[in-house]
Amino acid sequence: MDTTTKHVFAFEEGNGKNKHLLGGKGANLCEMTQIGLNVPPGFVISTAACLDYLATPDHALPAGIMDDVHAQMRALEQKTGKGFGDSENPLLVSVRSGSAMSMPGMMDTILNLGLNEQTLQGVIRATGDARFGYDAYRRFIQLFGKVALGVHDEAFDKEFAAIKEAAHAKQDVDLSATDLKETAERFLKVVQDATGRPFPSDPYEQLEIAIKAVFNSWGGKRAVDYRKQFHITPEMANGTAVNVVTMVFGNRGDDSATGVAFTRNPASGENKLYGEYLVNAQGEDVVAGIRTPKPIDRLKVEMPEMAKQLDELRDKLESHYHEVQDFEFTIEQGQLYCLQTRNGKMNTVAMVRTSIEMEQEGLINKQQALLRIAPDSLEQMLFPRLDPTVKADAVAQGLPASPGAASGIAVFDADRAEQLGHEQGLKVILVREETKPEDIHGFFAAEGILTSRGGKTSHAAVVARGMGKPCVAGAEGISVDVDRREARVGLTSFKEGDVITLDGTTGKVYLGAIPTVEPDFTPELNTLLGWADAVARLKVLANADTPDDARRARSYGAVGIGLARTERMFNDVERLPIVIEMIVAETPEKRQEALDRLLPLQRKDFRELFEVMSPNPVTIRLLDPPIHEFLPDEHVLERELSELRVLAQNARGVTVLAGAMGLLHASDALRHEVDTARRHIDPAVVEEVIAKKEAMLRKVRALYETNPMLGHRGVRLGITFPEIYQMQVRAILEAAAECAKAGIQVKPQIKVPQVCTAAELRKVKTFVDAIHAEVAERYGKPVSFKFGTMIEVVRACLRAESLAEEAEFFSFGTNDLTQATFSFSREDAENKFLPLYNQSGILQDNPFDVLDVKGVGKLMKLAVDWGRSVKPDLHVGICGEHGGHPASIAFCHEAGLDYVSCSGPRVPVARLAAAHAALQGQ
Ligand code: ADP
Ligand code: MG
Ligand code: MG
Repeated sequence: MDTTTKHVFAFEEGNGKNKHLLGGKGANLCEMTQIGLNVPPGFVISTAACLDYLATPDHALPAGIMDDVHAQMRALEQKTGKGFGDSENPLLVSVRSGSAMSMPGMMDTILNLGLNEQTLQGVIRATGDARFGYDAYRRFIQLFGKVALGVHDEAFDKEFAAIKEAAHAKQDVDLSATDLKETAERFLKVVQDATGRPFPSDPYEQLEIAIKAVFNSWGGKRAVDYRKQFHITPEMANGTAVNVVTMVFGNRGDDSATGVAFTRNPASGENKLYGEYLVNAQGEDVVAGIRTPKPIDRLKVEMPEMAKQLDELRDKLESHYHEVQDFEFTIEQGQLYCLQTRNGKMNTVAMVRTSIEMEQEGLINKQQALLRIAPDSLEQMLFPRLDPTVKADAVAQGLPASPGAASGIAVFDADRAEQLGHEQGLKVILVREETKPEDIHGFFAAEGILTSRGGKTSHAAVVARGMGKPCVAGAEGISVDVDRREARVGLTSFKEGDVITLDGTTGKVYLGAIPTVEPDFTPELNTLLGWADAVARLKVLANADTPDDARRARSYGAVGIGLARTERMFNDVERLPIVIEMIVAETPEKRQEALDRLLPLQRKDFRELFEVMSPNPVTIRLLDPPIHEFLPDEHVLERELSELRVLAQNARGVTVLAGAMGLLHASDALRHEVDTARRHIDPAVVEEVIAKKEAMLRKVRALYETNPMLGHRGVRLGITFPEIYQMQVRAILEAAAECAKAGIQVKPQIKVPQVCTAAELRKVKTFVDAIHAEVAERYGKPVSFKFGTMIEVVRACLRAESLAEEAEFFSFGTNDLTQATFSFSREDAENKFLPLYNQSGILQDNPFDVLDVKGVGKLMKLAVDWGRSVKPDLHVGICGEHGGHPASIAFCHEAGLDYVSCSGPRVPVARLAAAHAALQGQ
């Protein structure tokens, strides 16, 4: 060991900023001492000493440490005028653990160390209070026995219960000095029996054992598991410090007390001291629940002078730390001591309120007000949550795919959801194995979505997030039986009509209704986000496909739409047949006919989006997915066809039968019946349906692709079937022209997906320009628009210079770009090998969740730089899911992007994250 390293620091000398070395508790005890707060004298043994100690094979304390401890103890004796081990006027201390990260319950504190038969008599003489002396002694024996010597609590508890019973005492405070003396004697014997050795009576021996015990606790199973569970890395906290603190006594009578308090209410943020205390009690009593503590307000009545001092302490703490504090105090015979402080943990509502109020009070500035709130936590304020006071056991656990909570009756298909939800006005939860685009009307009618298959990016998850509805995806413990309208979960099940509750924030599923608490998008949050916008450089836009999505995104502060997916509009129940007709069309004329019917519908879609977002930009992406996605599944078609063929045969059979009735001497009634049956199913109609379905099936087979994601989609589709893109471009420009006529300011932006070469863009641009000229002439007014490209193909990044000559903006589609960069297909990766890659550290994160800055990010940077080298004012943004994640937003800021676009409910998170990025970049 390096003997020149200082390991032991008096509270007067330790650096209060160095939590890594001194632990959070130790650093703050030093800091509070140095700013003149009333902290009992003490010292800290560093976390570095702990690591040294644990590294030695025989677990020996680093050389010289006990000498330093002796020196510090002598200093404590001087400061207190007491002696450690002195039987006249004994000094007692507590030995407390404390690492850089708070790890509650990892290690207990030992109080009253230094007591033995002799010093006990000194305490009794000095205080004139035998009961107090024995009470302190029995506490010490138990705590030391348990924490330092590993004696189980039960052995002590058994003895203590026996004594209480014999004394007819209900509570500890009812015991007399004699009872407690007896307790201490029995406890000593408990220790002797358990360890085979007498209880150590030499105070310095006690101290050394206690220090080692605290150090050992760092490597104990409990602590190791805890760190694993909460992802506490060595960079965050390495080793525990030991704090040795002069004892002060809250159990010296009715003018003494102990308590814990927050400087502000941690649930609401209200600027008012919040906490509890117990009169005549020590240390853990408040939290241990032995007696019911009193609300802090009572102190004003019971000890008015102390209440005043406590208020002063609160003000001093806040004005020093510029943060809400959670602190421990003890009152010993009219003297107030502060024993610990740390930043208060609060819910988001309280964080936001305190940010605004502390700024107004001049305690912090706007930057601090913004930086103290984790952007992700804002989601809490946007969605209903399960009432936290209600206890319930989940029946299944899935992925938390879209946050929020909802209850409703289970329904197992989209049509039923629509019937019961929209038409009958019931609250329904749509339960599916997995969802498909054609289930969309069920989403609209449902309060929440539950699937038993699929990941966080499954159709259900993505659509639910866009709509801001809760979704639990991939709850594999549930098996869904659509035909029986029932789902089995382990030994129980629920049927259509049974009430279930989802928590999309945690992924849990409950049977029955659990009350929810409404979200609070408070005025304070608006103020805070206004401050964020003022410092952020990145603009925050939203991904929104419908006017409803757009409206919600706007209410969350989106300043435009960065991505409107037109395929969602094609999937509408009324339109899908027209879309299918367009796809199945055998001639360009037939195709055009179908497109002509789609045009007014698309125009209306765009017009609504423009109106909702006016005067902000609306970026519309031309059709992206392979068109066979709009057609039914091949196997479904085959099955339907074979059923239809049987039906056709039957229909023909019935016709023959009807004609043959004359051969029988049948009654009129029977003839009539057969005739009705014949008219019921017209063979000609059946044949027509068969022809249609056969055409569809031919098309499905013709369009079959081995790798649809890498196949006939995006701009490739736009070039092979230009009529589709032309219809969409016309719809966009006509909608814009209509708006302009109506005096509504609009900024349409046309975005081409899957581009890999400038020639593709040029090709699309020619007909865009032609349509633009035509529309301008017809409406008598040119509408301005921007033309740009998605960057989601590796080649597009590499050819950014030439793309920039054609495009006015770049929009990074990082979902596809990530797949392309890794050559991973997302669904396969996430279901098969990514979890193992993440667990074993081959990849640190799931690149589909956390933008891969090193690889994908590098490509993005190249593309931005090359693009801007040709066109300095090239507008660049991101519209992948990463656009809503704080770490990715920080990267986008640094890479010089102009905007991020994310799902509506992520907009507030992104606004705050954009501000953090700007502030941290300064
Ligand atoms: P934890 O980290 O579990 O809160 P602490 O080290 O803070 O453990 O101590 C536990 C309890 O003992 C707290 O209520 C604390 O205020 C009290 N305590 C610790 N040291 C002293 C002391 N020197 N005098 C009086 N009470 C103390
Ligand atoms: Mg504490
Ligand atoms: Mg894409």
